[in-house]
Order: sequence, then structure tokens, then C-alpha cells
Amino acid sequence: MTLAETPNQENSLNPLLTLNYEPALESLGDDYYDEVAAEEFPQHILRWRNDALLSDLGLNPQAVTDEDFITAFGKFQGRKPLLALRYHGYQFGTYNPQLGDGRGFLYGQVRATNGELYDFGTKGSGRTPYSRGGDGMLTLKGGVREVLAAEALHQMGVRTSRCLSMIETGLSLWRGDEPSPTRSSVMVRMSSSHIRFGTFERFHYLQRPDLTQKLLDHVIEYYYRHLVNQTDKYALFYAELVKRVAELVAQWMAVGFCHGVLNTDNMSITGESFDYGPYAFIPTYDPYFTAAYFDYYKRYCYGYQPSICQWNLEMLQEPLKAIINIADMQVGLASFDDYYGAEYRRLMLKKLGFEQLNHPEVDELLELTIAFLKESQVGYHLFFFEMARTFSAKWRDDPACVLNNSEIAPATGTSVIFDNWCILYHKILNHFDLDEMGNIANNLSQHNPKTVLLRPVIESIWQPIVNADDWQYFRDLIHQIQTKQ
Ligand code: AMP
Ligand code: MG
Repeated sequence: MTLAETPNQENSLNPLLTLNYEPALESLGDDYYDEVAAEEFPQHILRWRNDALLSDLGLNPQAVTDEDFITAFGKFQGRKPLLALRYHGYQFGTYNPQLGDGRGFLYGQVRATNGELYDFGTKGSGRTPYSRGGDGMLTLKGGVREVLAAEALHQMGVRTSRCLSMIETGLSLWRGDEPSPTRSSVMVRMSSSHIRFGTFERFHYLQRPDLTQKLLDHVIEYYYRHLVNQTDKYALFYAELVKRVAELVAQWMAVGFCHGVLNTDNMSITGESFDYGPYAFIPTYDPYFTAAYFDYYKRYCYGYQPSICQWNLEMLQEPLKAIINIADMQVGLASFDDYYGAEYRRLMLKKLGFEQLNHPEVDELLELTIAFLKESQVGYHLFFFEMARTFSAKWRDDPACVLNNSEIAPATGTSVIFDNWCILYHKILNHFDLDEMGNIANNLSQHNPKTVLLRPVIESIWQPIVNADDWQYFRDLIHQIQTKQ
């Protein structure tokens, strides 16, 4: 055996390389991407592998070695072409035609056991024609943060991409927003698609409605398959995208998540949440809470997320109007508020312990809950966790018992809103039979985990990594997230 043969033999046994890759996006042709090469890194240390996703791909995690991950997702051996995707986008409200995958590429597309096609997209894999002034790299902290966000959101029921792997790559990077030099990583993200609103916006800018048409047909064929044979499939596609996005934002709002950078190049055409940079979970209920330090005008603050996503959907009408009737799209977009409102209400009720509650007091309960969280500035997640922790059937007997053993109840008589909230919650509990209290307790604990990725929590696992290369706290945190502790 010659030395040259060794890698190929290894590759033919690597389950990550022998998956049934489908050239779905590649088959669209090179108007949509550029072929690129991956960076050769000085070091490869596997820091995260998502075995749950391997099972979704039909692989036995025990049959996939760490070395297999490194060969496939750190050295990027054995797969070609690697495609840097072309796109534009509105960034902080201004159109930017200088975008595209500047530090990533589409590694491949694979069908999971659920029959859906997924992208493996990289982040931090080197420079491309779209890197502009950037180094094409991802910091280790950036990799850690995206792994954590995706797992946490997934566990909280948000429709999100997830990270398949994250490998430390041994480079020193310089960043304005991290103590530098700082460590580097390369991540592989598994997402429903990396086609963005901005992928379409680019064809409007280039005045190529033919390429918009081709891409739209592709999107419907792969991600809105049930519409393929409908005569008005284009209008139905837009209407469904509006619904998916509205429901996604409602999910973010209910779990207290602020994405941070809702530019149209970070909006997936499948309505999935992805690309987690400077995100944050809100510590307290504050509509103006802003995650990105460079978002000077609070454009992407927590409370503006629904209206911003609506604006992004409106901007998408510009390229799509070459194919879809504008009046139909306006009708579609007009439903955003209803979809958003219904999903937000459903999710918040779950956090409050209820399913399908149709009593007239429901809206009042939601309003009072938000009013109390706003007035008191008690921890948003702590409030719901304390409900779950201290819930008792006794709350049905007397409003004074509601939350009385919790850490968050204000001193008696100091908050009219809180007193009214307790009276109303007590009243609603009395719409239920005593034997239904167990269901409410279950709902509360199911939807209000103790572990939430607040910034201090992320810092608490990051410091041992920086100071002692100790990854145990990171692993423990992921375990807590995955087991909803
Ligand atoms: P993001 O804000 O992460 O969605 O990135 C916006 C754009 O900047 C995308 O085109 C990225 O590919 C590009 N970009 C971000 N960071 C880097 C980097 N370090 N090197 C090259 N391009 C980058
Ligand atoms: Mg992005």
C-alpha cells in the first residue's frame, strides 16, 4: 500500500463521507455559488459532536469515530465541490450587494430519516470570494455560543438549525469584541436550507427574474413539496412562508430569545431559525433589550422582532413580484399578525401551565403576566421556573397561596398587578377539576426549564475553557439543556 492510498481507503470507511449526498443546490448551476477550497488548519480538536443528529441521519453514533468527524468536518477531505453561496441582503435596513458566504460553504446535502433534505453548511472554514476584509474564520467562543443556542432553542421547541460538529483549529484570531488573540474553530451546521431571503434579493438587483423563477421552483420542490401540484403554488408558497416566519418569531418571543441580527441574509426561506452570533436570552422582560452591541438604534431589539420580520417579508416581495402577484402577497402578509398572535398566545399559555384554554380571561391573564414581568423586572425565566417549582393544588383554594413559596412574590400589598394576577390565576385554576392539577404541574415543568442560556451562564462555562482548557462545564451545560433540567 502506498502512502497516497491511505486517505482514500480511510474515506471509503468514513460513514460521514459515504452518506447519500444529493447535489440539489449544485444542480441549479453556478449562477448560485462559487466553488471554493477549505482552509488547511494547523490543528483539529473535536470539541462537539451531535450524536442525536447522527441518529436522525440514519447513522449509528457508535460507528462514527471522532477521527471520522475530523476528516470530514475539519479537514474537509473527500468531498467536492464545496460551494460558497451567493446572496445579498438588507443589513440594518440598508441594501448590501457585497455579501455571500464569506467564511463558510455548503459542504453537502443529505436526506434524513424523516425524508427531508438537510444542508451541511460550514462556518469558519476559510476565505472565499465573499470574505471582503474578513479572515474567513470563526472564534472558538463563537462556535461554542452557536452550538449552545441551537441546542437550547431546539429543546425549547423553536424550529432551528443545529450544529453537527465543532472543531478547534489552532489559529489565533483578532477580534474587536473578544479579548484577543482568541482561539479558532470550524463548525458544521445542519439546517433545512441555507437559501436566504437575500438569495432572492440578489436576483432582483441583477435583474435576473429567470434565476428567481428557477430558485423559487427549486425551493417549492424541496421545501414546500405539498404545493408542487397546486395551480396557485407561488401565492401559496408566500402565504405559508409568512405563517412559518410568524410562528418562528412567536417561538423566539415566548422563550425570551433575541436573535440579534435579523438582516435578510440571516432569514431562511424555509422559515427556520439559524445563524447565531451576538444573540441573547432576555434577563428580564424589556422590549428594548438589544443583543448586538453594534445595533446602536436597537433595530433588532427583543420587542421589535415581530415587526422586523414582517418588514423582511415585505422586502422579499420585491424580487418575488416578478413571479407572484403582488396583491396576493399583500393578502398573505396581512395574516402575519394573526398567525403571530395565535402562536404566541398558545406558547405563553403553555408556559403558564395550560393547553387549549378558551375561557374569556385568557387574554387578561397574558396581559397581566407581561405587565407584572415588565413592572417588577423579576427574571423572565425565573418567574416561569418558580411557577413550575412551587406549583401546588393549594393555589386553587386561595389566591394568597399562589406563588407564596416562591422567590419572586413581591412583599404583600406592594404590587397591585401581582395581586390581580394571583386572583386571576386562582380563578382560572378553579375552571379545572382537582384531578387536572397534575397536568398543569406537568405543563409548567415541561415548558419552563431551570437552565437558561443567560449570558452569565455562558460566561461560567467559557471561563474554565479559557483558563484551564476545561470543557467539563460546557458538556454538563449541554447535558442539562438536552435533559431539560
Ligand atoms: P453574519 O453577520 O455572521 O451573518 O455575516 C454577515 C456577512 O459577513 C456574511 O456574508 C458573512 O459570510 C460575512 N462574515 C462574517 N464574519 C466574517 C469573517 N470573519 N470573515 C469573512 N466573512 C465574514
Ligand atoms: Mg449570516
